[in-house]
Order: sequence, then structure tokens, then C-alpha cells
Amino acid sequence: MYKHKVIPSWRPKKAVRRTPLMMKLSHAREFSLADVRRCLYDQTGRITMKECRYIFRHARLKTLAKNPLRTLRGYNDELEMCLRYGNKEAHYIEGVKQFFALHDRPRGMRHLKFSAEKQYKKGNYLYAILKMLAGDHVVGMNLLDLHKWRNNTYSVDKVWKQVKRTLHEVPIIKRRTYGTNMILIMPPRSCNLKDIKKRCTKCFYYKEMEKFLELVYRG
Ligand SMILES: [Zn+2]
Repeated sequence: MYKHKVIPSWRPKKAVRRTPLMMKLSHAREFSLADVRRCLYDQTGRITMKECRYIFRHARLKTLAKNPLRTLRGYNDELEMCLRYGNKEAHYIEGVKQFFALHDRPRGMRHLKFSAEKQYKKGNYLYAILKMLAGDHVVGMNLLDLHKWRNNTYSVDKVWKQVKRTLHEVPIIKRRTYGTNMILIMPPRSCNLKDIKKRCTKCFYYKEMEKFLELVYRG
């Protein structure tokens, strides 16, 4: 009989984590929403178009990613320029907004796919889950595998926490097909479906989908 062998989820040892100095250096190269706005409304002519294109493409839009629904009421110009120049975080934000708030699922999926293909972790994770729930199990599973969860689920769990945070105000409606598409990859009984935190290689995908569906019931 199959045995449910739990994959560890602890934080990897310090040696493989980034040091504060490395974090600082990588942050110093980051552009923010304020830089995007500086490009849009610059009257001084000190920023070149080339610089702006780079900023539109690479700016981190953390405040918007934390709550994509904010872009329903503003930030149109900022988002549009970032989308136009292929900013992967902007595509994630637009994807969440289109899919969940404006109920344009094909359009939402196109944006999420873009962010997933550009290795934006949150986009990759969410797109993978939505793909599996839509019945495209293999596509979704292959994308989730990019998070290398088989030996330790710490980093994939971290991405899920970030995704969950970005969805905290987003209304999620359960579709009838979700249940059917989950039954198709139902794990063996020994996997204890009630304990979704303890996953083995057989029940990992199923329990990730279940975690997402918990958001539907939060009321
Ligand atoms: Zn299991």
C-alpha cells in the first residue's frame, strides 16, 4: 500500500540564504512606482525615453501587487505603460484584476501566462493553479515543478503566502468544473486529505489546489 511520506517544509540553512548586503545591492538596482510616475510626468527632460522604457519594464510595483484591485480606481497610465513594455509584475496585477474582478477569464489568463513565462514567481504559481483547476493538469504541474518542491516545500510555500496576500481583497468564485478537475487527480486514501499542510509527492498538487479553494470559502 502507498505510504504518505511527508515532504519537509522548513527554511533552508542560512548559508544558502541571501545576506543583508546582497539584498541591499539588489534593491539598489530596483525601480519603483514613483520612478514610473517620474517618467510619465517629467517636465524637465532629464530622463531619456530609453531610460523610461527600461524603468517601465523593470519597475517593481509592490504597492499595486499587494492589492491589484487598486488599479480599478486609478494608476491607469502607470499600468498601461508598464504593460506595454513587458513588465512581468504589471501583467500579474492586470491578470488578477481581469480574471477575478472583471470576470474576463481568457484575458486574465493571457496576462498571468505572460508573467509566468517571464519567471515571475507569483504569476507562475497562480497561473499553474488556475490551469490545473481548468483541467490542464500537465501544464499546471510542469509549472509548479519549476518551484522545486520535491525535497522541501519551503520556497513554494513562501510564494503561496505572497500570492494569498495579493488576493486578500479579491472575490474568488468557485466554478463547478473545479471539483471535477480535482477529482481527476485525487490522491490515495493514505494521504489524509484533511491535513493539507502535510504533503507527499502524490498529494502535493491536489493539496495546493485545495489551499487555493479555501480562499473561496473565507466569506
Ligand atoms: Zn500524500
